[in-house]
Amino acid sequence: MRTLEQLKFDNTYARLPEVFHERVNPTPFPNPHLVSFNPAVAVLIDLHHDEANRDEFSDYFSGARLLPGSDPIAMLYSGHQFGHYVSQLGDGRAILLGEVKNKAGETWDLHLKGAGLTRFSRDGDGRAVLRSTIREYLCSEAMHGLGIPTTRSLCITSGNETVYRESSESGAMLVRLAPSHVRFGSFEAFFYRRQHNDLKILADYVIQYHFPLANNAENPYAQLLHDVATLTGQMIAQWQAVGWSHGVMNTDNMSILGLTLDYGPYGFMEQFNPEFICNHSDHHGRYSFQNQPDIGYWNIRAIAHALSPLLEQTHVEAAPEIYEQVFTKRYRELMNAKFGLVEQHAQDGLLRQGFLNLMHESRADYTNAFRSLNNFRQDSQDHNPTIRDQFIDRDVFDDWAAKYRERLEAERSEDEKRKILMDKTNPKYILRNHLAQYAIERAEDHHDYSEIDRLLNLLSDPCADQLSMESYARPAHSDSVPIIVSCSS
Ligand code: AMP
Ligand code: MG
Repeated sequence: MRTLEQLKFDNTYARLPEVFHERVNPTPFPNPHLVSFNPAVAVLIDLHHDEANRDEFSDYFSGARLLPGSDPIAMLYSGHQFGHYVSQLGDGRAILLGEVKNKAGETWDLHLKGAGLTRFSRDGDGRAVLRSTIREYLCSEAMHGLGIPTTRSLCITSGNETVYRESSESGAMLVRLAPSHVRFGSFEAFFYRRQHNDLKILADYVIQYHFPLANNAENPYAQLLHDVATLTGQMIAQWQAVGWSHGVMNTDNMSILGLTLDYGPYGFMEQFNPEFICNHSDHHGRYSFQNQPDIGYWNIRAIAHALSPLLEQTHVEAAPEIYEQVFTKRYRELMNAKFGLVEQHAQDGLLRQGFLNLMHESRADYTNAFRSLNNFRQDSQDHNPTIRDQFIDRDVFDDWAAKYRERLEAERSEDEKRKILMDKTNPKYILRNHLAQYAIERAEDHHDYSEIDRLLNLLSDPCADQLSMESYARPAHSDSVPIIVSCSS
């Protein structure tokens, strides 16, 4: 395990031509301090967990000191925001400190979000607020706990700096890790500027460092696109299965590695509603829960179009179809697993839809309804009351349960064995908005960060029973004020 000063940097992106980035150092906060540290992510870069106890730790991760060997840059990208092309976005408030190479030979971007102004800041202040930083920190780790590909979070720092949004708030910085922060929009920037040589440099770079096997293909760029479509389809299938909405699926927020990236107004669905919109600014519901798979298709078309100078037309047209096939197959598998079904049968889609309809009509809690299904007994004399009681129309539930029983019998499913599998599949704990909100309030109002750590710990193992944490599995009180989240954080 290494000290901060011993981290090994290999800044491959910073070595790309100047048009790819701006060299810029973070702008520090006065009096930085550590808000939360995640040892599970420190391991990824071989960083010793005791390093978090040093004063220098918050200096390095709030811009007050530069890590030896780092080469900070802001990355250029553009992207489609809510369907409209915006020609220059880029890291307006995040700075890539550098790429750390661990002993296993993997490289991890150290990205400092909220690090101050860059050439790409436009009208923004380059800062992030404590509230949004805590939300990203907790959710990225919750997603990882659920087995969903995502950027990771190492720590949060804060300091004596007030940031102005709708009201004044504490500023903070988040250290985010990913093997790469290249986005669909990174390619779009060069395509729409007609800098096709730079487009090729970027594609070659991504293949070399992240998709080396694509070099074996007849057309490596076509293989790259194929792999991106596949990873994206798998990721979005996982979002749908767990009932999670990203909220801002603009192409600048789509990772080339199929990682869940840029946590803004995201939300885990509580009462099941396919039209769920988590982003308060999304007035037309473009990024509603049920639209996410189609938006994934739209976004794959956008990246295929951006790569078109390197491809044949057939490759461009094939990519969204590949995405769709992968999504559909993965979604079916994941949903069947949620019902404890091992085999795939022709009528499974109807069975699934029946349960979703029941949940929708009864406004049942998506996570808890599935979790309760783990205890379904085929020989139940009294109609599986703990499941049944979640639904308003008990007769409709009984009809559905009869079909479910038939389907379980068809694959000779055994209740005990199935429960063991389902207990590992259907989570008990998700990051409910009110849980995150409580951790935020403790941090903002009392400088008490213990709730952040408690949630981090809980959500790292979301399927375990953790009996002392039972209350964290409950939905928000129905009379509590809804928490409004939008892009402006
Ligand atoms: P996001 O909505 O966080 O994905 O950001 C979209 C674009 O706006 C990116 O180019 C960000 O870097 C930029 N941006 C968001 N917030 C700020 C801010 N406070 N200061 C500067 N740029 C920002
Ligand atoms: Mg973004």
